[in-house]
Amino acid sequence: MKNLISTLMWICILILYISFLTPKDLVAILDVGQGDAILIQEGDIQVLVDGGPDSSILYELAKFMPVYDRRIEYIVITHTHDDHIVGILDVVNRYEVGEILYYPVCFENANYEFLIQSFPDMRKVGRGETIRLKTFNINILWPILNKEGRECVKSFNGNVNDDSLVLDFEFLNKKFLLMGDIESPVESTLLKEGLISKEYDILKAGHHCSKTSSSETFIKYVSPSLAVCSVGVENSFGHPSGETLGTYLRLGVQYLLTSQKGSIQIK
Ligand SMILES: [Zn+2]
Repeated sequence: MKNLISTLMWICILILYISFLTPKDLVAILDVGQGDAILIQEGDIQVLVDGGPDSSILYELAKFMPVYDRRIEYIVITHTHDDHIVGILDVVNRYEVGEILYYPVCFENANYEFLIQSFPDMRKVGRGETIRLKTFNINILWPILNKEGRECVKSFNGNVNDDSLVLDFEFLNKKFLLMGDIESPVESTLLKEGLISKEYDILKAGHHCSKTSSSETFIKYVSPSLAVCSVGVENSFGHPSGETLGTYLRLGVQYLLTSQKGSIQIK
C-alpha cells in the first residue's frame, strides 16, 4: 500500500513537471506599466512585440515562457518611443534573440539609435511582409515602406505614433489586430485605402486608449469582441481616455485595462 501511494505521488509530480515545462500557445498583453509589450507564443517559438518602458518585461516574460527557453525568435519594434523600446535593451541582454524587425522612421532617440547601432542586422519591414510561425503568419499592414536604400524614411505625418507597425494574424481560432500607438489619422487612411480587414476578435487598442485613437468609425469597422488598453496605474498621460472607453461601451465592445487586470492572456 505504501509503495502504491509513493508511486502515485511520483506520477503526479512527473505530470506536474511535464506540464510546467510544456510551452503554452498564447497571446499575452503584458502588464509593463505605461507602455506596450505583447508576447505571441506558439510552442517554443516566441514573437515579442515591443518591450515596455523598463525591465519589468523580464518578470512578465518569465511568467509565460518555459524556464528552459532562453531564445526569443523575433522582436518587433512597433515604433521608436521609449515606452515601447527601453525594455528591449533588457531583453537582448537576458535572452538570445533571433531577429529584430522595425520600421526605419527617421527619429532622434538615444535608445533607438543604440539599438540600431548595436544590431546592424535589424530587418527593415513594412506592409506586405510577414513573420512565419509554425502554423500561421503575422502580417504587417502598415506603414508602407518605400525601400529606396536610404538610412531612414520620413515620418508619414510628423507624428511617429502614426508610423507604428500594425500587425494582424489568426491564432487560437481568433483574429488579432495590434495597433501599436496608431492614432486616428492613420485609422482613417487604413479604412480609406482598404488596408485592413473587417471583424477582429481581439484588438490591442492604439496608443494606450488615448482619445486620439479608436475613432468610432474605425472601431465600428474592425468590430472587435474585446479591446485591450495597455496602460499604467495613474499614469501622467491620463490614459485611457474616458471618451475612448465611452466609444467602446456605446458600440458594445468589452474592454480590459492592464492597469486593472495585470497581464492579459488569451489562449
Ligand atoms: Zn506608447
